[in-house]
Amino acid sequence: MIVTKNLKKAFGDHMVLKGIDETIEKGEKVVVIGPSGSGKSTFLRCLNLLEVPTEGEIWFEDINITDSKENINLIRRKMGMVFQQFNLFPHLSVKQNITLAPVKLGIMTKEEADRKAMELLKRIGLTEKADAYPNQLSGGQKQRIAIIRSLAMNPDVMLFDEPTSALDPEMVGEVLDLMVQLAEEGMTMVVVTHEMQFAKKVGTRVLFMDEGKIVEQNTPDQFFDNPTHPRLKEFLSKVL
Ligand code: ADP
Ligand code: MG
Repeated sequence: MIVTKNLKKAFGDHMVLKGIDETIEKGEKVVVIGPSGSGKSTFLRCLNLLEVPTEGEIWFEDINITDSKENINLIRRKMGMVFQQFNLFPHLSVKQNITLAPVKLGIMTKEEADRKAMELLKRIGLTEKADAYPNQLSGGQKQRIAIIRSLAMNPDVMLFDEPTSALDPEMVGEVLDLMVQLAEEGMTMVVVTHEMQFAKKVGTRVLFMDEGKIVEQNTPDQFFDNPTHPRLKEFLSKVL
């Protein structure tokens, strides 16, 4: 579904991604972990062209998306992204937040988008918040709305960048539960997270990033029980 070939990204003369070759298959749940500043967010942001790679290629569903600016709309439709800071539009109601993109991109009529929004809100038990504004929601509610807002576009893959890191501890569970549901439904997912239990339970593969490279990757069992790279061993000894 996604292939990166020698993906590099520099900010000025700071090389942040130093050549990443990865293949993510349909249905995989790839968990990315690593120290702060190692390039995890930049990697995700390159995948959906929020950052323009400095070098290398990204292929999405057999299309070289680094090739042409035209593909940005394909990416917006087909790759959902959820951020640490929710990024809901504060001046729009919950329902408007969900329906904005599908209507604007001409994927759905207003009526279809409204129906879809209510269906998705029902799924997460928040129909009564349809006309509320983001500042009237808890962090966990905001993040679950941000997730279903992405789902409204019927994406083929969902990218998550530390979706629970900004939440109060008691709200982490409700967001992870929704992500587990998505995983069980077969969604292809790439998840940057510090939630090691989630990585173990849901991940089909775990990647460890360090200084702009993926230095180790494995099934969750092997990754956590038999780490080989010294930096990964050190990292795990601090977080587990
Ligand atoms: P992580 O998500 O693993 O914490 P990031 O991808 O956010 O790491 O950042 C990797 C490095 O790139 C950091 O040194 C960060 O300061 C730098 N960086 C990220 N985004 C930018 C940017 N827009 N401009 C300049 N430097 C950036
Ligand atoms: Mg980050």
